[in-house]
Amino acid sequence: MAEDASADIETGTVRLQVAAARQEESGRGVVRMPRSAFQTLGITEGDFVEIEGKRVTVAIAAAAYDEDEALDVIRLDGLQRGNAETSSGEHVIVRRATSKPATRVVFAPSQREMRLQGPTEALKRVFFKKPLTAGDLVATHGQQPVQNVPAEVRRMFNAPAYALTQIRLQVVSTTPKGIVHIDENTEVELRAEFEEPRDARGMINYDDVGGMEDTIKQLREMVELPLRYPELFTRLGVDPPKGVLLHGPPGTGKTRLAQAVANESDAEFFIINGPEIMGSAYGESEKRLREVFEEAERSQPAIIFIDEIDSITPKRENVQGEAEKRLVAQLLTLMDGLHARANLVVIAATNRPDAIDEALRRPGRFDREIIIGVPDDNGRREILAIHTRGMPLGEGVDLMELARSTHGFVGADLAALTREAAIEAVRRIMPKIDLDAREIPPEVLDELCVEKGDFREALKR
Ligand code: ADP
Repeated sequence: MAEDASADIETGTVRLQVAAARQEESGRGVVRMPRSAFQTLGITEGDFVEIEGKRVTVAIAAAAYDEDEALDVIRLDGLQRGNAETSSGEHVIVRRATSKPATRVVFAPSQREMRLQGPTEALKRVFFKKPLTAGDLVATHGQQPVQNVPAEVRRMFNAPAYALTQIRLQVVSTTPKGIVHIDENTEVELRAEFEEPRDARGMINYDDVGGMEDTIKQLREMVELPLRYPELFTRLGVDPPKGVLLHGPPGTGKTRLAQAVANESDAEFFIINGPEIMGSAYGESEKRLREVFEEAERSQPAIIFIDEIDSITPKRENVQGEAEKRLVAQLLTLMDGLHARANLVVIAATNRPDAIDEALRRPGRFDREIIIGVPDDNGRREILAIHTRGMPLGEGVDLMELARSTHGFVGADLAALTREAAIEAVRRIMPKIDLDAREIPPEVLDELCVEKGDFREALKR
């Protein structure tokens, strides 16, 4: 033990390298670390630990996976990396934590589309006895976190089933301050208004992109490292990449991936939609393009994402319209005009790489390429796991089996499938819901569960 440089018995701290959590464990508030760390800290599984990166957060300690046992690694999910302000590959200090019972905890949704309100009993159940600290981003999982208001149930047939999706919340405040946990006597408040999350990883992070482990690795090297550590490149005297072209069929997660990279690297994210910008009036499209580049340069580090770039930059010889020609020229000028050392990367997506003007792919422009294919069995299982994170799943639901039977589905199809299955589950309990009541009785909500048959029905659609 004395030989172990990463352990400090005197102060009871351990220094561990951050690695990403397994996707299916994302949002559970648990961190995994080797047994040696448990010994040094004098803790057992289920105890609370403080994790200190550039910020301090708190989590529940669990044993490492067997294959990690010999490594000085701690597995943190995207929210926890955001909470500790760290990234995979960096080091954090871990120490034992103690928590006080909270008299009051205030949460607010950290995802804009969530508009939740009111009853908080269910929320209290989700976070019962779990450690929390103000400013942290936390997630619900595997259960109905908040009783949705009846109005929402009425709209359920054409709206996402909120009671069945993972919800991310920010801990706005706690009484007392510091590390607390919820117990029987805690008063829990859920604010209706969206709270801009302290860290953008609260919205989309690498845990939300399935079946792309290698792609994430590649893109991290090309984009995240240069944005986070520009000095690495300055030291080496090489220019970081300016443009990366992602190509793959629609719905495979290109936009989501670009957004995750931006959030994980603390960069501002700007999105340009090809077809949309093409539709603007004469001269407007170029102006719009220039404005986005100017704004991104002002807010470095930044990522500009150009979706469906082929629609604005078709091969010039195929182009009849003056508008396209001018827009290609404008984009080339903007790319060339980017400062070599600008802390800005342009990521473009296309499903027709052969259809874009070759001039765009010259060095200094979009000179890196990543292919995003249709996911394989395992990729589909990962994507299904992401989209069912917030759902109570029936015993018979086997995601691997479901993945095998959805050959050819891309991420967007799988997301739609899980949504459909959730709606099926809601449909089944509808007869038990009194639509005039203000709240759905908890025992009815407890029955809400997405079963194998719901997926079967959803697949028929
Ligand atoms: P693209 O940009 O390739 O057309 P998007 O990123 O817009 O695809 O994906 C659309 C939606 O489909 C996403 O919001 C997400 O719900 C789902 N999705 C697609 N690919 C994935 C993936 N690899 N992992 C998780 N969800 C995915």
